[in-house]
Amino acid sequence: MSAATTRSRTPDRLCAEAVDLARAAAEEAAAPGVVGEHVSLVSEGDRVVTHFFECKEPGYRGWRWAVTVARASRAKVVTLDESVLLPGPDALLAPEWVPWSERLRPGDLGPGDLLPTEADDLRLEPGYSGEDAPPPNSVVTGTSPDLAERVEDEDAELTDRRPADTVPNSRGTIASLAEELGMRRARVLSRYGLHTAADRWDESFGAKTPMAQAAPAACVSCGFLVPVAGSLSQAFGICANEFSPADGRVVSLSYGCGGHSEAAVMPKPPPAAEPVLDSMATDDFPLHGDPSEDLGHA
Ligand code: SF4
Repeated sequence: MSAATTRSRTPDRLCAEAVDLARAAAEEAAAPGVVGEHVSLVSEGDRVVTHFFECKEPGYRGWRWAVTVARASRAKVVTLDESVLLPGPDALLAPEWVPWSERLRPGDLGPGDLLPTEADDLRLEPGYSGEDAPPPNSVVTGTSPDLAERVEDEDAELTDRRPADTVPNSRGTIASLAEELGMRRARVLSRYGLHTAADRWDESFGAKTPMAQAAPAACVSCGFLVPVAGSLSQAFGICANEFSPADGRVVSLSYGCGGHSEAAVMPKPPPAAEPVLDSMATDDFPLHGDPSEDLGHA
């Protein structure tokens, strides 16, 4: 039978009565005046009892001072074991601590911040660094440098061409091919990384967004769509319409917005109306009227 099952659940009488001893210990540990009423006690085991006192500290609502007292077998003196501040069932607690790596959210990275990437980050996989280049004489690299030199010398003898005329040609090597494909980096995007990025972009600028649902046509037929290279080109492009909410963003080909290049063709200006007044002819307006007419009127 284990020791836990033999423990008494009935508090030891002498330990249960040692409330004053427990209170004195709590007051010694706490600031003056913050130990409140005796709340309860529990039996921790044979001759071991914990007394709980209300904590009156404003910032610790629902917390309790817990003072454990104990007594040796056949001894009548109760002694102090420990005192500590513990949260009660209704205590106000801080949110559970979350590691920074799980707390980080998109957009949290500011200027000057560094975000280390795990060595085994699933979004990345090794690129071609050149360290695992095929050894000399490998069929992959073709001719070894020594052999190439000898061939070059013999060729120069036969053709009167100087060996120095030959320019080393790096085209066709794995390194140059990797460079051309953008793979010559320590690590490149893995398939998993590519898929998660595509899902994310599709969520923000994909066919299911309200903007796309209300769009007159999809990005695939829009003149503002800039194509991207690689496998992503089958599903995504970049929007280059400054009036679109997706300007400068990766958009799904099935996304769309009201700024679609062919959505609304501007109407032609109406032809000018015929002039109502003939402003091409001249009318006579004498500066001074006929003087005889003036006399006659008088
Ligand atoms: S303007 Fe609108 S429809 Fe055209 S590419 Fe940008 S988001 Fe797509």
